[in-house]
Amino acid sequence: MREKFMRFMQGRNGVDDLSKALNVVILVLLILSIFTGWGFLYAIAFLLIIYMYFRVFSKNIPKRYAENQKYRNFRYDMTIKWNNKKKEWAQRKVYRFYRCPICKQKVRVPRGRGKICITCPKCRTEFVKRS
Ligand SMILES: [Zn+2]
Repeated sequence: MREKFMRFMQGRNGVDDLSKALNVVILVLLILSIFTGWGFLYAIAFLLIIYMYFRVFSKNIPKRYAENQKYRNFRYDMTIKWNNKKKEWAQRKVYRFYRCPICKQKVRVPRGRGKICITCPKCRTEFVKRS
């Protein structure tokens, strides 16, 4: 039986990080649909289950690999953003954070200096803010 399954899975994508993430989303949607009674959550979960199994049993491995890689890049970006937010939160009593109005570069300035003129380190735009 085990061997039969292994032969069946040969040349197929199998479970990857994206399938695992989908699994978590499906579980959350199902639990939410139970507590809220919203049928559309159940429907979305059902479609995601089909999509997840389609990916696991797919033989188009390069395409599935590319999807998985996209998901992993997205997760990596989110982790970086989350860590930056955590750092900002830890420094919130000492520094203030602003974004340059032109290039959106994040700028950190010390607190408690009154109104100050900030020069963007990236594009040299000057803007006035309270520190
Ligand atoms: Zn700038």
